[in-house]
Amino acid sequence: MKKSICFDDVLLEPQYSDITTRKQIDLSTPFGNNGVFLSLPLISSPMDTVTGVEMAIEMHKAGGVGILHRYNAIEQQSEMVRKIKDSNSTIFCGGAIGITGDFYERAEALVEEGCDILCLDVAHGHHVLMKQALGKLVERFEGNVHLMAGNVATLKAFNDLSDWGADSIRVGVGGGSICSTRVQTGHGVPTLQSVFDCAVSDRDAILIADGGIKNSGDMVKALSAGADFVMCGSLLAGTAESPGDMIRYADGQSPRKVYRGMASREAQKTWRGRVGSVEGVSTTVPCRGKVSDVLHDLEWGIRSGLSYSGAHDLVELRSKAKFIEQTQSSQTESSPHALLNF
Ligand code: IMP
Repeated sequence: MKKSICFDDVLLEPQYSDITTRKQIDLSTPFGNNGVFLSLPLISSPMDTVTGVEMAIEMHKAGGVGILHRYNAIEQQSEMVRKIKDSNSTIFCGGAIGITGDFYERAEALVEEGCDILCLDVAHGHHVLMKQALGKLVERFEGNVHLMAGNVATLKAFNDLSDWGADSIRVGVGGGSICSTRVQTGHGVPTLQSVFDCAVSDRDAILIADGGIKNSGDMVKALSAGADFVMCGSLLAGTAESPGDMIRYADGQSPRKVYRGMASREAQKTWRGRVGSVEGVSTTVPCRGKVSDVLHDLEWGIRSGLSYSGAHDLVELRSKAKFIEQTQSSQTESSPHALLNF
């Protein structure tokens, strides 16, 4: 039986570095073959408690990109794209669509508003319906819009989605912090393992590591393992720009915001009025202030990570990175443990 690796199972060995300032490090990454470069390899998840208009604008300002969630009427999602492109028509942004139902009309409406990326956003992307949906969109848009698709967990799936026309592919099944897919269905692959597996693909598609990324250290591991970008949900939830109201408590407890899986009971009730297979949970997270501050910390954590591997850019990181496996006791040593013994 194949053994699989999670983020916490590995570390990167520090290497000789000639980087004198972390400002020297270049985090820019091409986003497809059309000359678009993003200066920060981060993408915000298409979830109704993560990416709306404000998050998409802030992601763009920070050098990454936001993918607007699809859990609303076509007109509401189009209006979100319109608001972003009015505020500034050069803002690069994406919108999620499904692969059945209104996905085609939604895709047309989003592209009409100037949306740059269509994200075919389903839990199990290695699917005949994905093949059919990608086929229709490739025929309709003929390379004029970037097609992101997923999620997948295996090399075979990655290659198939690429062959069906996906320009970028979300890799990770069952690893999200609000995900209960593995409990509910028994299926999934640790996200970092899927990244290792898919990174050997000979296809051109961009690899996006998605699900279970808890900190900038996990981002550096994913980028070292072969991801071009990382997608985050929980790390961006609870910020001023994530959609949803602050929950204030009478007893003086710090305010919180809802963060929920889109297949949670609560989210399903909101967006389709009925509940099918529950594969996510809903929770609240502390309010964390401006997302620009959160993104700043993540960016500098990634920069520092490259410096430890002696890498000037992400291509060099991938070629130089040296992974080691860590034991259970090493995992304890690897996070702050001053309080454990007292
Ligand atoms: P996080 O960054 O670990 O919080 O994971 C976010 C990712 O979880 C998203 O980008 C999706 O791929 C995935 N996701 C979102 N909602 C659900 C759900 O309800 N069940 C399983 N996975 C989900």
